[in-house]
Amino acid sequence: MNLFAPSLAFVDLETTGTAADRDAITEVGIVRVTVEPAGGEPAVSEWSTLVNPGVPIPPAIQALTGITDAMVRNAPSFAAIADEVAARTAGALFVAHNARFDYGFLKHAFARLDRNFSTRALCTVKLSRRLFPDAERHNLDSVVERHALPVEGRHRALGDARVLWAFVQALYRQFDAETVADAAKRVLKIPSLPPQLAPDALDALPEAPGVYLFYGMNALPLYIGKSRNLRERVGAHFSSDYRSSTDSRLSTEIRRIEFEETAGEIGALLRESALVKSMLPSHNHALRRKAESGVLELPVEPGPPRFHPAATVEAGELAGRYGPFTSKRAAREALRHLSKDHALCWNALGLEKRSGPCFARQVRRCLGVCVGEESPEAHHARLREALAPHAVPAWPYPGLAGIRERALLGERTDIHVLRNWCWLGTARDDGELTRLIETPPRPVFDADIAKLLIRTFARKRHEVLRLS
Ligand SMILES: [Zn+2]
Repeated sequence: MNLFAPSLAFVDLETTGTAADRDAITEVGIVRVTVEPAGGEPAVSEWSTLVNPGVPIPPAIQALTGITDAMVRNAPSFAAIADEVAARTAGALFVAHNARFDYGFLKHAFARLDRNFSTRALCTVKLSRRLFPDAERHNLDSVVERHALPVEGRHRALGDARVLWAFVQALYRQFDAETVADAAKRVLKIPSLPPQLAPDALDALPEAPGVYLFYGMNALPLYIGKSRNLRERVGAHFSSDYRSSTDSRLSTEIRRIEFEETAGEIGALLRESALVKSMLPSHNHALRRKAESGVLELPVEPGPPRFHPAATVEAGELAGRYGPFTSKRAAREALRHLSKDHALCWNALGLEKRSGPCFARQVRRCLGVCVGEESPEAHHARLREALAPHAVPAWPYPGLAGIRERALLGERTDIHVLRNWCWLGTARDDGELTRLIETPPRPVFDADIAKLLIRTFARKRHEVLRLS
């Protein structure tokens, strides 16, 4: 038979409770299945032992598992069986029902012995969910019933580990090997993490919006990014399918990952922008772009539009400016498009410095201000009209405004406090909000943030609060 991994370790634990950091293991069952060579008969080896948890087992759990204080009194401690557990799971794909539970307990148990336990883990709840998306329940009893699996010693470690192996065999009877392997791969979402990172480094990341920071050997981060799904995005950096050259370099340098959760995408973007500016990560190439961003100003008298870098722009003077543009080059690109659509002159736009007919005139796309066939005033009026759709909109509030962003899951609500298309800060509660309203920091113009806010206001998808 062909399995989706050369070796599988089906693991089940019985415990004194559900908290991996506080409760203890009372029984371990491991069924190890190896198929070697591929396509051969599976070699199965089973092992189970009671474990003395060192604490009394709550009566309700004694009733559920049938494992009593008396039974574990003379059993070995976890320290005495740790080597055996490590050996029986080494080099195999760890498979468990609700794998996070069993894997988490073992990780903590090893950590108490100052030992590291880390391996790739496949959750059979997720596997069941992926292959039987229409089934409502995926707990072990439902799985047993759905596939008519043989059961002996349910709620005991070895009995449940055997059920998992029976479940996987049942999958191979119902689907072709490729379908099962594909489902397993998707459940594992194996972004092959760089070897310096723990295989479970992604587990700590929530499937929620926020920012993530990649650190190497130094105190400052290598890279800062944002996502609406932190775990998925970070994994994507290391997925072998398509990896950018930046990701390849990050893979060799990364040593640890930190993250901050936000209520939503807007908060993630604002936070990313602030962190990138204050920490200057070496691999954030967007940083350079931000430093180059700015707006265009059209002089009153005929003359080419002037580019003002973001750093020189006063937030209160945005009205009547155009953009924002991510760079001077992007602004010139926009002007070239305008020239094409509105028969404007490259000389008058400042795209060219030469006397006589401009480039656009030579290809019959300029009405001819450069050769005296149109007055500078008429051209300037047409330019003003062409630029109008790019005007920075007037700030629609008398003073401060806030965008309320609620998390899809959980209680978190962020209020982003804004003025003149600038972000002043984010409040998570009334106290923070009052402080921001009473003593707002001076608005600092940032082209990327202004662009995001203008877009967000236009879409009207978020609640905007008038704050002053
Ligand atoms: Zn011209």
